[in-house]
Amino acid sequence: MNRKYRKTIIAGNWKMNKTPAEGKALIEEVKGIVGKQKWCDVVVCVPFVDIPAAIRATRDAKIAVAAQNMHYEKSGAFTGEISADMLKELGVKYVIIGHSERRQYFNETDNTVNLKIKAALEAGLRPIVCVGETLEQREAGITEEHITMQVKIALRDIAPEQMRKIVFAYEPVWAIGTGKTATSEQAAEVCGLIRAVIRAKYGARCARSITIQYGGSMNAKNCAGLLSKVNVDGGLIGGASLKSDDFTVIVDAAQ
Ligand code: PEP
Repeated sequence: MNRKYRKTIIAGNWKMNKTPAEGKALIEEVKGIVGKQKWCDVVVCVPFVDIPAAIRATRDAKIAVAAQNMHYEKSGAFTGEISADMLKELGVKYVIIGHSERRQYFNETDNTVNLKIKAALEAGLRPIVCVGETLEQREAGITEEHITMQVKIALRDIAPEQMRKIVFAYEPVWAIGTGKTATSEQAAEVCGLIRAVIRAKYGARCARSITIQYGGSMNAKNCAGLLSKVNVDGGLIGGASLKSDDFTVIVDAAQ
């Protein structure tokens, strides 16, 4: 983390877990502890149907609500989809774009990620853009090329003044939901690479102001080591965000 230049953000990705009532109960459990923190922003990324209950439950706390996906078109014949304007009107602040589960199971590509980032920004939402390599890519020694390509395509046609709204999350696919965590060194190296790609396009000042999270089996035990790295500005946390005790330990470590 480097608090001088950028915000630390801890975001819990609930994935397809928690009904609205269960989600409200989880927020009530954590908000007394994480809802007043000064040094890091806390975000809960909830299923679409949980959004209204989550917005109500977080009204008196410093916790922002995020969606886990959105469509890139403003409106139209896209049955089952949700637009950025719809999320914005509910009070959503952030939206995860390009999570590896969306890429893997729902055919999301670097191009749709780019379109979604642009639509989110236009609607006034802050995209949390996920990039990461598979185990096969890491073992083939092409992590750097793959991440560079993902970041470059994600940022196609994004103006410098839009950059301050974007958050990146480095999420190695092999570490998501597997219990395998990248070492602090691996996480810091790739977060540093993402920052270098941004620096090459937008300059040093922009690059040092961007929050770059790590995600992939981050938990109460390994969070301190990961967050101690200067290029790791927080976490996108799946499994451990569903347990209030673990999530509050992670927010505490980021504090
Ligand atoms: C995620 O869903 O973004 C994630 C990192 O999941 P987990 O922490 O369970 O690996």
